Amino acid sequence: DAKENGKNNYRYFTTEMNESMTKRLDIETGLRKGLEEGHFELHYQPQVSVLDKNIKGVEALIRWRNPESGLIPPNDFIPIAEDTGLILRIDQWVLQEACSQAKLWQDEGSFHGRMSVNISALQFKQRDFPDTVRRTLQDTGLDPTFLELELTESIIQDPEHAFPVMKALKDMGIRLSLDDFGTGYSSLSYLKDFPLDTIKVDKSFIQTMNNGLKDQAIVNSIINIATSLDLTVIAEGVETDDQLLSLQQKHCHEYQGYLFSTPLSSKDFIEKLNRGDFQVLQGIS
Ligand code: C2E
Ligand code: MG
Ligand code: MG
Ligand code: MG
Repeated sequence: DAKENGKNNYRYFTTEMNESMTKRLDIETGLRKGLEEGHFELHYQPQVSVLDKNIKGVEALIRWRNPESGLIPPNDFIPIAEDTGLILRIDQWVLQEACSQAKLWQDEGSFHGRMSVNISALQFKQRDFPDTVRRTLQDTGLDPTFLELELTESIIQDPEHAFPVMKALKDMGIRLSLDDFGTGYSSLSYLKDFPLDTIKVDKSFIQTMNNGLKDQAIVNSIINIATSLDLTVIAEGVETDDQLLSLQQKHCHEYQGYLFSTPLSSKDFIEKLNRGDFQVLQGIS
């Protein structure tokens, strides 16, 4: 009967809740240990010119190499890291690692391009964020013009705070990018009012782009508006030749996605670069 069911539901719910709380606690403990013992690594995904397939930059994407369960993708631990505040230590590690990697590649003459780093809302909100970035650039010796910070729409939703921080970063010579464009409470005025260099069209738009005229029109408009505002447009999540062809026709500047390359370890990235593998793997020449 209903009463019995209600009781069962209640019991089921608490069991599930306990399980998920235990899991979260395990992840939290693992993350703390990971920070101390160096279990994080960055993989790098090329950002490529649509016209000539030059690799203009790479996006640094974090992975957690858990001794027990292997390589864990960010979506499985970033939300917990955010809830516990551990994201601040993780983000600082990422920034430091990405900048020193970029400098190392430049010094060894293997890769000269932008290094894009994802910034969490919590990190961006820290009072000393611009100083932290400045210090990291000084420590690693990376020229600020090679660093691009990827911000999300949620980060810049509070313009009173966001604007001066973005201005301070721009004044240092750092590039700013708006990530996942179109998924948040997008306002076109963001593109006009904030000191941005790049927008990244979210992969959900790219993956439906060739479904019909309306989907085409949306991507066309984003590219046209951004271009007339002098922004670089990067299409995210490009997986097929058809998508790349459409982006060429729409005069999109750059693309990123499995079609060109998945995110790679630093070693794999440089090996492929040196072997010229990126050129031959192309679908369209
Ligand atoms: P994002 O910044 O939008 O990164 C792009 C995501 O799309 C990456 O997932 C990338 O591997 C994936 N991707 C690239 N090409 C394709 C494609 O052709 N098809 C599909 N389906 N996916 C593609 P990843 O590495 O799992 O990262 C997920 C999200 O986690 C990132 O989204 C970003 O929001 C966050 N993240 C990653 N690394 C960091 C980090 O170092 N710090 C912070 N705060 N967040 C990070
Ligand atoms: Mg990103
Ligand atoms: Mg993105
Ligand atoms: Mg995205």
